[in-house]
Amino acid sequence: MDLLGRSFRCTCGREHHVPIRRVVVGDDAMVRMGEFARDEFVARPGPGNTAGGARAILVADRNTYAAAGDAARSALEGAGCDVEVLVLGGDGGNGRCVQGVLEADEEAIGRVLARLSGCGSESDVALSKSPEPAAGVAVSAAARKTFAVAVGSGTINDIVKYASFKAGCPYISVPTAPSMDGYTSSVAALLLGGFKRTLPAAPPLAVFADLGVLSRAPSNMVAAGFGDLLGKLTAGADWVLARLVNGEYYCELAAELARSIALECLERGSEIGTRTKGAIKSLTEGLIWSGIAMLMVGNSRPASGAEHHLSHYWELKSLREGRPQPFHGTKVGVATILIAGVYADILGRDPRGIDLADLKRRHRSREEREERIRRFYGPMAGEAIIETAGKYLPWEEREKKLREVVARWDEIRDTLRGIVPGADRVRDALEQAGAPATPEAIGFSSDWVWEALANAKDLRMRFTVLDFADLLGFLDEIASAGAYKRSQGGS
Ligand SMILES: [Zn+2]
Ligand SMILES: [Zn+2]
Repeated sequence: MDLLGRSFRCTCGREHHVPIRRVVVGDDAMVRMGEFARDEFVARPGPGNTAGGARAILVADRNTYAAAGDAARSALEGAGCDVEVLVLGGDGGNGRCVQGVLEADEEAIGRVLARLSGCGSESDVALSKSPEPAAGVAVSAAARKTFAVAVGSGTINDIVKYASFKAGCPYISVPTAPSMDGYTSSVAALLLGGFKRTLPAAPPLAVFADLGVLSRAPSNMVAAGFGDLLGKLTAGADWVLARLVNGEYYCELAAELARSIALECLERGSEIGTRTKGAIKSLTEGLIWSGIAMLMVGNSRPASGAEHHLSHYWELKSLREGRPQPFHGTKVGVATILIAGVYADILGRDPRGIDLADLKRRHRSREEREERIRRFYGPMAGEAIIETAGKYLPWEEREKKLREVVARWDEIRDTLRGIVPGADRVRDALEQAGAPATPEAIGFSSDWVWEALANAKDLRMRFTVLDFADLLGFLDEIASAGAYKRSQGGS
């Protein structure tokens, strides 16, 4: 907990900065939020701040307001804030609603921005990077500090995160469902001009998650959050693999933050399913801390690997074909089983037996690689080719890398075997939690599985076990047979 609001030099050699100052997951979260708002915004000591007061813009949709809006409002009012409520979404709310679903689009962002306008000039202290209250900052008695409060899950959080970033205004996150790890991230997933985009933003100043509210969240959202959390297990393995094979930068602290609670929750699937408070608390903390791990290293490496690439691949394909989308974490959970299967497969092989002459004959030229990307990525191909151009190795470089891997195979295999959970354990945990645990359960055929396993590596520059399988020449074989059978409970 002492990482919060701090900058520090880490054993990884880098300086980390965590601008989030408070994380509370508990039954008393709203009480603690009131105290925080009073200390931070209403009664911050400083010359001239006699009774300036504070203005809280509380943003929710109808469902999330019903879940936690009144409690958040009265906590803030009790702390002395003037609270303005903005309910987004259909049926009398503001903002566009597509088929009953609120989107994080220009309209919703604009409505929040309109309420926050001018707040950057009123509130100059809360965004300061100093972990301690900036003593002596003068705020005139007339100036009221404005801050936003996002009461909701992914969409509300993304809207408020982006709007408050644009307005130069701090925000507090009040999660209503443990559904994904984006609450504490520094990016916002938006729908702009009809396209899904991820844009830079600022993380919340604090997160106050009420356990009672989280325990009553819709079961498919809890299941999705559990899938996203279990994905940290294969994501962490990919990071270790990239360090071993490519000497990639690695931070043990960030890796552990993202992974340790996921590992603990792997044994608590049935408790997640029955929503014991202890398990919901762990799940929520796991998601929050994996977001903080990403903040620390400045990208999503600690929390996102091949399982996320599969999920993104399916998402793009579903969008192209106009098919409905399962939740992000639901896809990630299913993909984590598949990737755990890929690990088991590859670690059970021995690259010392690879026939280099045969592999050289099958080696693809850069043109052949790009041709393949065009075949599977359609209109996205150009972007994918540019994004992953650096992944291509001419044969001489690939052979050199292969020889290095072969020379260190025992170390690589033993290290990873100690990290990656078995596919069966991941599947059992998801099933116990009542989450979908096969591709079919979320409407994805075996063709979709094969296609994603064989091609998802071309989506992002990040090195994962799928690139490793490709390097060794095993990927096509693993994609078409082994991993998928494993996901079905076969041998
Ligand atoms: Zn995720
Ligand atoms: Zn570090």
